[in-house]
Amino acid sequence: MYPQVSINIKKLRNNLDAVAKTTKEHGKCSMMVVTKCVCADEEVVKMIAETPAVDFLADSRISNIASYADVAHKNGKKTVLLRIPMQSEIVEVAKYVDLCMISEIETIKLLNAEASKLGKKQDILLMIDMGDLREGIFFQNKDLIFEAVQQILALDNINLYGVGVNLTCYGAIIPKNENLSALVEIAREIEAKFGIKLEMISGGNSSSIYLIDKGELPDGINNLRLGESVLLGNDTAYSTRLPGTDADAFILKAEIVELKRKPSLPIGEVGVDAFGQKPYYEDRGLMDRAIIAIGKQDTDLDSMEPVDSRLEIMGGSSDHIIVDVTKAKGDYKVGDIIEFTLSYGGLLKCMTSKYVEKTYVK
Ligand SMILES: *Cc1c(COP(=O)(O)O)cnc(C)c1O
Repeated sequence: MYPQVSINIKKLRNNLDAVAKTTKEHGKCSMMVVTKCVCADEEVVKMIAETPAVDFLADSRISNIASYADVAHKNGKKTVLLRIPMQSEIVEVAKYVDLCMISEIETIKLLNAEASKLGKKQDILLMIDMGDLREGIFFQNKDLIFEAVQQILALDNINLYGVGVNLTCYGAIIPKNENLSALVEIAREIEAKFGIKLEMISGGNSSSIYLIDKGELPDGINNLRLGESVLLGNDTAYSTRLPGTDADAFILKAEIVELKRKPSLPIGEVGVDAFGQKPYYEDRGLMDRAIIAIGKQDTDLDSMEPVDSRLEIMGGSSDHIIVDVTKAKGDYKVGDIIEFTLSYGGLLKCMTSKYVEKTYVK
């Protein structure tokens, strides 16, 4: 069935090994592999769970974690919730999550109560915002950080496992030796002030790996949370390819349902398209226009690239994408399949769409 994402498990395993070599061997960091971008696909999760170098499986959605908590535990891995939890999901968090990234004391208290019911001690990672301005207690408000720690330490069923930072997300702030050193400093201050030991200082996502190669990851950072670097082989700080990785472990395949020679300029008054945008057209004369049966409901047009470099995506709507196949000079016909590599946004949407079939190369 099409559309389809073909997932090459061998290439993914190879990517994972390459990233683990850098992260674990050179960076001395434990590995949280992030499964949200593949919607916790069962086969991908299985491969990750069975890889010895992986320490944690992490996701932002509790339903994804619930789906694989057993598999993770059977393989000796812990589960991590990446998105700070909703109060309304706290029962599930206590049930399925081994390590919870969190930043609100009221939510931590609720988690404490749920953990108590289960007779468990819940590990948490207190998030510190080092300037990216998404989740975490703002790093300049040291008093608020210490106050939170004090309240956490008073809770019987919560264990402050460590602190973490997220960068290069909302504010697109790049991890550097300076901002990560400042995080380590905060962790050391917490340890000194409260006489405790923090097991983990989690230094960010795929955008932090480049620091290892440059020898600039500060001592003390001992964990990274890695999604895109494993799945697509990207260093996301400066958009470079990580050595030894492949970008094409995921291939999107869609079928041509119409192929006709038509003008490149629509005829009539131009209004707005199906998504309320005013389109821009370039007159390229007559064009071989292929319509493929996939649309914005299933993928992200800006995050997919035809494998055949003679092809170009012209645009699309909910259920259709139009591809200029003129340069392929008659090599395509109706019923043929066009293949695309995916970047982050496209991969996320394709893997989440129930309309996109998943197949595996093992
Ligand atoms: C998604 C996410 C990650 C993984 O990000 P990548 O860029 O895919 O490595 C790490 N941490 C948090 C908190 C996330 O939400």
